[in-house]
This record gives sequence, C-alpha cells and structure tokens, in this order.
Amino acid sequence: MRRRIIAGNWKMNMLKSEAKQFMVELIPLVKDAKCEIVLCTPYTDIHRVYKLSLGTNIGVGAQNVSWADKGAFTGEISADMLKEVGASYCIIGHSERRAYFGETDESVNKRLLQALKCGLKPIVCVGETLDEREGGLTEKTLARQLTEGLKGAEGDIIIAYEPVWAIGTGRTATPETANETIAFIRKIVTPLIGETSILYGGSMNAANAQSLLDMSEIDGGLIGGASLKSADFSIIVHCK
Ligand code: PEP
Repeated sequence: MRRRIIAGNWKMNMLKSEAKQFMVELIPLVKDAKCEIVLCTPYTDIHRVYKLSLGTNIGVGAQNVSWADKGAFTGEISADMLKEVGASYCIIGHSERRAYFGETDESVNKRLLQALKCGLKPIVCVGETLDEREGGLTEKTLARQLTEGLKGAEGDIIIAYEPVWAIGTGRTATPETANETIAFIRKIVTPLIGETSILYGGSMNAANAQSLLDMSEIDGGLIGGASLKSADFSIIVHCK
C-alpha cells in the first residue's frame, strides 16, 4: 500500500544522552503528524529509543539485519534480536553498506527474505553511482538491484531510491529527476511485490523536502543528516 513514510537514518551517530535528548524534543513536535514516522538508529540506541517511543507515533528500526537465524556469525545481529529490543523496521542494502562492507544484491536478497520471515518491515535501498548515471546506466543498475534484491520476496516492503551521488553530499536530485527515476522503479517493483511506498533519499532536508514530496511518485523520504536534528526532522515530517 502506498503511504507517506518519513524515515530517519541516524547512521553511526547519537550517543545515549544525545538519543534521549532528541526523543524528548521530537515527540511533542510530531505528535499530530499524518505520516508514518520511523527512526533507524544504531543497534545500541534501539532499545532506549523504543522505550521512549512507547505510546507515541514513532516507530523504531535498525540499519541492517543478519540473513541467518542465529549461530556463529560474529558481529552480526539477528532479526529476532532486533525485535526483542523493539525494532519493527530495518534498512537493507544502504549504499554505505554496499560500498564499504561488501553488500551485494545477493546478500541484500538474503537479508530481505530473513527480515520478512521474522516480521520486520524492510526498507530496501537502491541507487546508482555518479559514474553509472553519467554513463547512462541508471536504469540498468536499478533494474538489476531490484530484480536480484527482491527475488522471491513477498510482503510489506518499502523501497528507498537513494542515488549514491546525492547521499551526504549536499547534492540533491532535482524533484523531476527523482520523480522520473522513481516512476521507473515503480514499473519494475509493482509486478514483483505489488503497490508499495517508494521513498527518496539523498540530502533531503528541511528546505528542499516539500518540493521533493510534492512529486507524484515520491511517497516519502529516507533522511540521513537532517534526521539528527529534531527541529529539521519534524519540519520534513510535517510537509504536505
Ligand atoms: C541516507 O543515509 O540514507 C541519506 C539519505 O543520507 P543524507 O540525507 O545525509 O544524504
């Protein structure tokens, strides 16, 4: 089902006291929001943020999930562990994991199937690099990431289109480019998993969010840097 989702990705930020302060500020600012609000925090913040979110309209997620149930996988965190500490969403296949931690379309698919099996709501990230865009390979790259990544998957899967050249760079895709690319993504994913929310991510902030969210294909946002400040994040949450 298509719905407005505003999800924050804290990446490797927010110590205990910072996370608490953020929540104390954010909760009253977004209590009347009309959209689904998610905060994907570092593993170490999930339980704290979850406890502070009880009774509010804020959902909590992780930034990755293991593809295995349990066992000898040093450094990994299972879906059941995430659920136990209060996560109900997880980001899968973020470009930083693809670039720095060897994530592939195949491992994205394994993590996705595991998240769905265990009842976590996945936010699957796809996006082309600058070289791929400039080389005319955007559609080919996205089609591969989506068909391989979503293979055999069924359920409530949120997609985030995050052009790699726009993440953390301050260089946002224009609303028109983001809309056109998400329309292409929708054509691929609808026959595979049905109608779903497709978010835009990449330097979305309080100043540019409305122009992106006004576009017909953009259902919401996955927000990195601007999700670390409660005032900025709440402005995005309240966009029409
Ligand atoms: C992200 O990390 O998913 C992201 C979109 O980051 P930023 O908003 O900082 O570009």
